[in-house]
Amino acid sequence: MSSNQNSRIREIISILDHDKELPTLSPVVDKILKLVSDEKISIQQIAGVIQNDVSLSFKILKVVNSAFYGYPRKVGTLSQAMVILGLAAVKNLALSMSILEVFMQTSKSGPGNFNFKVIWERSLLSAVAARRLAILAKDPREEEIFMASLLQDVGILVFIKYFPDEYSKLMETSARSATELINLEDQHFGINHTLLGEFLTNKWQLPRSLSVPILRHHEPENTLRGGIAEEDPKIISLTQFVHLSHLASAIFYDEYRPDFVTKLVDRADKYFKIKANAITELLDNLSAEAKEVAEFFGLPPLDTRSYSELIMAANIELGRINLSYDQMNRELIASKRRAEELAEQLAAANTKLQDMANIDGLTQINNRRVFQNLIAREFYRSNRYGHPLSCIMIDLDNFKLINDREGHLVGDQVLRGVANALQNSLRKSDFLARYGGEEFVAILPEADQKAATIIAEKLRKAVENHFFDIETRQIKVTISLGVSTFCRETHFAEDEALIERADVNLYHAKRHGRNRYWTDQDTLRMENPVEEKDLELENAALTS
Ligand code: GH3
Ligand code: MG
Ligand code: MG
Repeated sequence: MSSNQNSRIREIISILDHDKELPTLSPVVDKILKLVSDEKISIQQIAGVIQNDVSLSFKILKVVNSAFYGYPRKVGTLSQAMVILGLAAVKNLALSMSILEVFMQTSKSGPGNFNFKVIWERSLLSAVAARRLAILAKDPREEEIFMASLLQDVGILVFIKYFPDEYSKLMETSARSATELINLEDQHFGINHTLLGEFLTNKWQLPRSLSVPILRHHEPENTLRGGIAEEDPKIISLTQFVHLSHLASAIFYDEYRPDFVTKLVDRADKYFKIKANAITELLDNLSAEAKEVAEFFGLPPLDTRSYSELIMAANIELGRINLSYDQMNRELIASKRRAEELAEQLAAANTKLQDMANIDGLTQINNRRVFQNLIAREFYRSNRYGHPLSCIMIDLDNFKLINDREGHLVGDQVLRGVANALQNSLRKSDFLARYGGEEFVAILPEADQKAATIIAEKLRKAVENHFFDIETRQIKVTISLGVSTFCRETHFAEDEALIERADVNLYHAKRHGRNRYWTDQDTLRMENPVEEKDLELENAALTS
C-alpha cells in the first residue's frame, strides 16, 4: 500500500509541476483580478472589461437585480451595479461565476454515467451558508466569505479531471461508510483536496485570504504547516467561516451525521457567538436559499433535500404504522438516539481504522508510511513557495547493548520512552515518526538551519536527561541526530535527497562520538576545511 500510495502522490505532483491542462480561470476574470490589484484603476475601466464578456455581464446584472441582493431600484448598467455593490463585490461576483463555470465544465464529464454535479452543488450550498453566517456574525465581508467558501473544495477538480473513475468510487465509498472524503483521499492518493486547492489558488494568483482558508477548512485548529496562530486575524476568521460552512453542507451531503450538527452549533458559538437557534434556522432555510441562488447564477436546479426532509429520512423506519401517537413519539426519540449513536460509533470506528494504518503499534507515534507522504508534500510545498524545510534523522546510541543486557522487553520500553520524550520536545507544527527499528525521523516545516539546530539540541538533551525506571534501577540512553535543511543555500532536487543527506549526517554524528547532532554545515566544513579566521566570519554570518 505504502509504495503504491507513494507513487500516486508523485504522479499528482508531476501533474501539478507540469501544469498539464489544469483547470484555468476565464481570461476575463484573470484580467479583472490583475486590474483590481492596481489601485489607480477606475470603475469604468473594469466595467469595460466585464462588458466584453456578454454572458458574464448579463449574469451579473441578473444577480444584482435578484431578491438575493434586495435593491429597491432596477440596476440597468454594469457601472451602476459597481457603484452600488462596490468594486470588491463585483470582483467577487465575477470570480464566483467563473469558478462555478470551471466547476461545471470539469464535473460534467464523469466516468460512465457518474455525475459530479454534487461537487459544485455542495460548494454552492456551503457558500450560501457562509454568507448567512457572515450576516449572523455581523461581518461585513459577506462577498469575500461567500467566495472563499465557494472555493473550498476547488482542489477536488484536480482529482476529477485526472482520476474520474477512482474519484467517483471514493465518493461512493464515502457515502456508504460515513468516512469523510478527505480521509479517503489521503488514504488513496496520499494527498487531499485542501492541498490541491491551495495549489490551484496560488496558480491562479488569488490572495492568501483565499488560499489559507482553502488549505485549512477541514481543520482550522490544526497548527501544522506554518502555524495559524501567527496568521492575520482576518484570515483566521475567514477560515473559521469556511470551516463552519463546510460542516453545514456536510450535514446535507454526507450520510446523516448528527455529530456534525453538534460540532457546527458548538463552533459557531465559540468562534462568533452565534446562538444555536440561529443555526437551526439557518439549516432550515439553507436548501431553499441555495436553490434560489443557483437559479440567479443560471445553474441547473439543485437536488438538495431540506433539513426537515433529511431528519425524516433518518427516521424513516418510523413509517411502520399501527403505532399509537405516544408510542410513535417514543420510537421517534429512540430511533433518533440510535441514529446518533450509530453515527458516533461509525465515526469512532473509522478514526480507529485510520489510526491503525497510520500509527506505529509499539511507540504510538506516526509510522513510516505517514512520514513518506508528509515529506513528499512538505518538500513539494517548500520547493514551490521557497520556504525552508528541515529533516532530522534520529538513532539510539548503542541500543543493541541495552537489548543484550536488559532484554528486548526493556528495549521496547526504552523505545516508547524515547518516542515520548521526543514528541514532547517538539512543537505542534513539527512532525515525528518511527522510521525503523530504533530510528526516528522529525520533519520541521519552515525551520531553517539555525532553527533546526536548536531543535536538534533540544531533542538530544531531552533524551539525555530522561531516566528510564527499570524495576528498581534507572537507566539512561542517548541519541545521535543528523540534521539536514532544504533552503536557498542547500538545495535538493527531491525529498529523497534531503532524507539521504540527513542519514549521512547521522552517520557522521555517530562517527564523531555519538550523543551529538551533525548538520549540513558541519559536513561542509569537514569536506572543505577553512582557515580559523574564515570560520569565525562564517559563524558571524550564520548567527546574524
Ligand atoms: P549505534 O550507536 O551505532 O546506532 O549502535 P546500535 O547498537 O544502536 O545499532 P545497531 O544497528 O547495531 O543495533 C540496533 C539494535 O536495535 C538492534 C536491534 O535488535 C534493536 N532494535 C531494533 N528495533 C527494535 C525494537 O522494536 N525493539 C527492541 N527491543 N529492539 C530493537
Ligand atoms: Mg473540503
Ligand atoms: Mg542505533
